[in-house]
Amino acid sequence: MKKKIAILGSTGSIGTQALEVIDKLNSDFEIIALSAGSNVNLIAKQAEKYKPQIISISTKFDAEILQKRFPQIKILYGEEGLLEICQNKDIELILVAVSGKAGLKPTIEAIRNRKDIALANKETLVMAGEIVMKLAKEYNVKILPVDSEHSAIFQCLSDRKDVNHIIITSSGGPFRTATREEIENADLKSALSHPRWNMGKKITVDSATLMNKGLEVIEAHHLFNISYENIKVVVHPQSYIHSAVEYKDGSIIAQIGIPSMHIPIQYALTYPERKEGIETESFDFIKAGKLEFFEPDHEKFPALKLAFEAGKRGGTFSVCLNAANEEAVFAFLEKQIKFTDIYKITKNIFDSYKSIDNPTINNIIEEDEKIRIMTKEYIKSKGNL
Ligand code: NDP
Ligand code: MG
Repeated sequence: MKKKIAILGSTGSIGTQALEVIDKLNSDFEIIALSAGSNVNLIAKQAEKYKPQIISISTKFDAEILQKRFPQIKILYGEEGLLEICQNKDIELILVAVSGKAGLKPTIEAIRNRKDIALANKETLVMAGEIVMKLAKEYNVKILPVDSEHSAIFQCLSDRKDVNHIIITSSGGPFRTATREEIENADLKSALSHPRWNMGKKITVDSATLMNKGLEVIEAHHLFNISYENIKVVVHPQSYIHSAVEYKDGSIIAQIGIPSMHIPIQYALTYPERKEGIETESFDFIKAGKLEFFEPDHEKFPALKLAFEAGKRGGTFSVCLNAANEEAVFAFLEKQIKFTDIYKITKNIFDSYKSIDNPTINNIIEEDEKIRIMTKEYIKSKGNL
């Protein structure tokens, strides 16, 4: 029996790599639905190749273009379109690979409709990790991590009660060896030149500030129900060790492999089975030679500590962190602010923020919107900081 799957964000970096994984495991999956933001050309090509029953795209305008071209496919649009995919009776597994806050509502809707989730979108857990994990338990739904570090930890966690701590590795990003001055003057091109991973723009900029690692710490806290005190971050520039778990007896179990997102994506899609996939190259210990490990430089990359702080404080502090950071990253991508302003803006909004305890999902969505407006106004009022 083929597993019936939907990919939300099939035109992105994770989405396209997921389709490559599925191409190789062709007889195991049936693609019921795909979704895109604005890349009409690519989703049209995917529609021709995979012949899904449903497609969703961001705007009504693009949906009408697609509907004319593909009369046999149900074409949906906007947030409602994503939610309708999540309600589809046939779909068993949904890969949530949209970027940013767009992942939250579909993930919740998918859980409520008892779909297993392969979760790439980390912002969902940063914003509403407690609610999402509780709902998943209530509806008996699996949340399978796609983020490489979390896939690694998931694979290393054999006996949760005996865990001492988890170790999340970080490549250190493009500015690992840069001076403070170089970071101060970093332009968009250099921030988007990640040494190890080819990813969407938002996560690539987050990797350069190390906010990505901070978001991953919060993601790990929720996914694995582990306290912030027991999460360590280690910089490992070669990105062969994807993360590790240390047990009470001192044993450390790490997951190792070439830096390829195909592997964690595939494991989330085929779990609990392992299959021969498209990666034919395996990690070669001898060729790899020296593996290095460093303490994160909190002076140069203060975002990581801010994320720990947001996570530990709880309430809606991580909603604030996520929204302010995302808006600041968008402003940087639009060349409205400097690279180092991303952190300054996020920190400024965070410091003046009053959190809500035990938020509902509606509280979270309202706070998120409020913080985004505040951040945009702050950026407008300050110009270049
Ligand atoms: P991309 O920017 O490459 O892709 C994002 C996808 O989401 C695209 O298909 C895009 O459509 C779609 N999209 C964006 N905004 C919306 C919206 N408002 N409504 C509907 N669809 C939307 O991002 P990545 O693939 O790199 O990342 C996706 C998620 O996975 C992120 O949350 C990221 O943090 C996480 N992740 C990514 C990793 C990676 O290696 N790339 C690693 C670990 C986690 P379109 O392009 O058509 O506009
Ligand atoms: Mg990651």
